[in-house]
Amino acid sequence: MRIGRFDARIFSDGVFRLDGGAMFGIVPKALWERQKPADERNRVAMDMNCLLIRDADHVVLVETGAGAKLTPKQQEIFGIDEPPRLLAELKALGVRPEEVTLVVNTHLHFDHSGGNTYRDGERIVATFPRASYVFQRAEWQDAIAPNERTRGSYLADDFAPLEATGKLELVDDSVEILPGIRLDRVQGHTRGTQTVRVTDGGETLFFSSDFMPDRHHLPLPWIPAFDLFPLETLAAKKVILPRAVREKWIVGFTHDVPRFGRITEAEGRFRFEEIA
Ligand SMILES: [Zn+2]
Repeated sequence: MRIGRFDARIFSDGVFRLDGGAMFGIVPKALWERQKPADERNRVAMDMNCLLIRDADHVVLVETGAGAKLTPKQQEIFGIDEPPRLLAELKALGVRPEEVTLVVNTHLHFDHSGGNTYRDGERIVATFPRASYVFQRAEWQDAIAPNERTRGSYLADDFAPLEATGKLELVDDSVEILPGIRLDRVQGHTRGTQTVRVTDGGETLFFSSDFMPDRHHLPLPWIPAFDLFPLETLAAKKVILPRAVREKWIVGFTHDVPRFGRITEAEGRFRFEEIA
């Protein structure tokens, strides 16, 4: 996908599975199961999408999937049956790990940040040795000091070892990290979740983050029970979705099939239309 001077690709690191009830919040199973069938453990399967944005001088990777550090037990719990695809997908796109200049995580849950690091003997090291890793400061603070409710989603080895490398770049709220690439903090899924917006040549690409993980979360009340601030998710959707329609944004989701589309609205209902 061309966004002005940028080349943008979306691909999946692989599939994982989470409880369907938790994914759809107050929506009854009778409704969400028509959109996403549950397995025998009530889990729904989802891709873990990554976004690659390149211009002549920069290689920006948004999200790194679940990585290769999960224990067999964790892989079983999250229904991860295959090794992570991140590095093979990058290779197929002609990108070596040392060529990545910036890594952005929308937030630090394990399914977005696991590939940031890998295990090298006894050590945990950065997968992308030359990159700066860009997170919201609020997310970093909450991830390194999780509470009883948030602990299950954060695995410190995915992000904590980056601090010692001097490659950590913490940002606050809204920031243009490169000309044409904006990060915006959207409190909802977590306190420090951020969306990514790429704008150039009259086009805008929007990458959702998990307050709207896939197209099934376009209806306003379809909000994950995982969200720590669901009413703020609702408020953000009421601002962002009409703007996405009005400004004809190209949209990619964190946990949908890896593809781009546009949001349309008819009689108050938002829909996703894939771009071929
Ligand atoms: Zn996620």
